[in-house]
Amino acid sequence: MKKAGCYHPPVRFQRFLVTGGAGFIGSHLVDRLLEAGASVVVIDDFNDYYDPAIKRANVRPHLEQPERYRLVEGDIRDRALVQRLIEESGTEVVIHLAARAGVRPSVEDPFLYQTTNVEGTLNLLDAARRHGVKRFVFVSSSSVYGVNDKVPFAEDDPILAAASPYAATKIAGEALCASFSHLYELPSVSLRFFTVFGPRQRPDLAIRKFTELLRAGKPIQLYGDGTSSRDYTYVADIVRGILAAVELNSRGHEIFNLGNGSPTTLIELVRTIEEVLGVTANIEWLPTQPGDVPRTYADVRKANARLGYTPQTSLREGIAHMVRWLDSQAAAS
Ligand code: NAD
Repeated sequence: MKKAGCYHPPVRFQRFLVTGGAGFIGSHLVDRLLEAGASVVVIDDFNDYYDPAIKRANVRPHLEQPERYRLVEGDIRDRALVQRLIEESGTEVVIHLAARAGVRPSVEDPFLYQTTNVEGTLNLLDAARRHGVKRFVFVSSSSVYGVNDKVPFAEDDPILAAASPYAATKIAGEALCASFSHLYELPSVSLRFFTVFGPRQRPDLAIRKFTELLRAGKPIQLYGDGTSSRDYTYVADIVRGILAAVELNSRGHEIFNLGNGSPTTLIELVRTIEEVLGVTANIEWLPTQPGDVPRTYADVRKANARLGYTPQTSLREGIAHMVRWLDSQAAAS
């Protein structure tokens, strides 16, 4: 394995389209691209899956750099808009993060997930291959592994046992990328993220939710018996992995896990947050939710070998960064 901290990918390309660039992970990616001197167009529909004011706050610093940043408030399901945008902007690299991202809500409304995550991805791929895009990076998810008994999860494990419509849409997205690489020589990469956390994390996700409730002295609800586990991955590590994938020299379609390679059980997660905050949790136990999988655990050897990807931030350090960010938010409001 490469030593931690030694890999800083350069940005070889200049013109990027980032879909979902107002969201949690997308906005961190845009920070890095702008710092690296690239030009970035973002398309985001600011939907109300969570409070759009959070997304407005995420893009505020980017809007202060209008010479290299353009925000398009639009929907990736709008095929004509997507075609026009990629053609007009001379996009070299598409990094496609826009999606309906929750597992449980996808059980409630699978049609919304299908149109956004599958048709939206197809619109982008089609525009990319028509207008000379050089790289297409698709953001997939560890959910594609479904209920996988074999750990750690490796890129060549079978993935046709999706446990939720969300997972099924990500499998479809990967398959579309593979087919467009095959048919049109559009190099593409699918990156399977494992539960991402850090400052600006989506308010519906466990670490953010628990941290805010525990800070406020409120009880938290845990599903199952506390033994389910997740391979929590810090957002800055994920962004380094994305940038390395952009630089990958490959002609076809490649798949990489971007995880931490070190899973944590739900109850260990709560104990870690308690320690960082110096509080004791009041826990209400609830039954497992439909669509949830018992574990995720990334095998990151391929990403390490091909992308130089080495996760650098432990769960405890990441939670401490997140608590400092929540403190700064509270102080500013
Ligand atoms: P997010 O909801 O904060 O970001 C997604 C963004 O996409 C949002 O700003 C949203 O407004 C935008 N969007 C959604 N539908 C759109 C549409 N039709 N048109 C234009 N924009 C649209 O979520 P995130 O956690 O930053 O996730 C980013 C990506 O990473 C998603 O593809 C998600 O599936 C994937 N992912 C996330 C995690 C995680 O733990 N956060 C884990 C695995 C995969």
